[in-house]
Amino acid sequence: MAMPKLAPAPAAHDKLKALGILALNGMFDEMDAVGVLRYAITEVLPGDLAIVSSFGADSAVLLHMVAQVDPSLPVYFLETGKHFPETLAYVETLKTTLGLSNVRAILPDAKDVLRFDPNGDLWETDPDSCCHIRKTEPLEPITEQFGGWVTGRKRYQTTERGVLPHFELTSDDRIKVNPLAYFSDADVVEYRQAHRLPEHPLYAKGYKSIGCAPCTSVVAEGEDPRAGRWRGLNKKECGIHYDFSGAIANPMTAAARHTLWKDGAFIADPFKDWEEGANPSEARYVHVPLPVFLANRAEFLANPHPLGLLVSPGEKIEDVADDLARFASVAVRFPAFSDGRGYSTARLLVERLKYAGEIRAVGDVLQDQIPHMRRCGFNALVVTHEPTRQALIENRLPEMALFYQPVGVTEVPVGTRPFLRRVS
Ligand code: SF4
Repeated sequence: MAMPKLAPAPAAHDKLKALGILALNGMFDEMDAVGVLRYAITEVLPGDLAIVSSFGADSAVLLHMVAQVDPSLPVYFLETGKHFPETLAYVETLKTTLGLSNVRAILPDAKDVLRFDPNGDLWETDPDSCCHIRKTEPLEPITEQFGGWVTGRKRYQTTERGVLPHFELTSDDRIKVNPLAYFSDADVVEYRQAHRLPEHPLYAKGYKSIGCAPCTSVVAEGEDPRAGRWRGLNKKECGIHYDFSGAIANPMTAAARHTLWKDGAFIADPFKDWEEGANPSEARYVHVPLPVFLANRAEFLANPHPLGLLVSPGEKIEDVADDLARFASVAVRFPAFSDGRGYSTARLLVERLKYAGEIRAVGDVLQDQIPHMRRCGFNALVVTHEPTRQALIENRLPEMALFYQPVGVTEVPVGTRPFLRRVS
């Protein structure tokens, strides 16, 4: 039978290629993972395909399939420097057991780590940036060398992956091959047992999806297997899967709902809203309403996790003056465009209380307000108004040459996130 054959890394993302992907997806049974992999390696992208493996809880299944089809297929491992020691040991175990002869470690740029994460705690304050310097940036030059990639992603893992097909076309005309797209957790376990594959040492301890140690926690019975990744944060992916065709699966769409304008770019927002009845001792990356903080001050001060404060009009920021250093972020609410009380709160924070952390405007944040907000000390914005988002992206804010009320702070320039704009 004549099979559709796709040229490696063609220059244009054309209709024919998209149709080829559709045809490929129609060729295999849902559970024919080895068939998908074999065809991808031998027919679709011979010599032009590689795999990135996390050597996590269920990596052995896909790597076993790779070893059956081609044990010399390049297997890349993102050695972020943040893995559990058990994961590093597991890499060696699988290499030996499965006979994988081409496992290669990808390391972050030491200069980037020194510059942006000198204390090794960036994961806690800005996990997106941490993933960026440890995963996305080091992987980029490697991905450019291949026409396609094999991934171990599965539909059941998250709702964002619920429509994942076997073959995907990326926006830069590469092919992602997902042989396990239709595998369930039970299928993985069954395969592992049938082939007596070594288990990740942490799996039996309740780690169902294993990534870097600081960002991985145990999953409770009945929880989404990936619930233990970046627990408590508005983050589900490390960024390296964001590049897929929006027609198939587009995690950025979901992520875009949780973005924050900061330092000249929209970034994922690690903070969530406070939920009524939540436990003050366990809160993490939430903006605690000022009255809730005052009512539970001792518990919040004993809480070791990063916290923010939410200040609404009529609430007095001076009431928490002694505790401001506790907060990584203060969110000032603008319930309506015409309500200017938030400006005074920001000025008090910066000028009188000398607060040096993030001050974000939330609520009715519109384009014309932003220059005033910046002058008063706001250095982050949560913007839901689409035209305002677009104006920020395109740097189209109104110019203001004359101010009636001088303020004592330096305006925050629309700056850069240096590593996102790397100069070669
Ligand atoms: S998973 Fe966590 S530690 Fe690993 S790179 Fe991302 S933020 Fe950093």
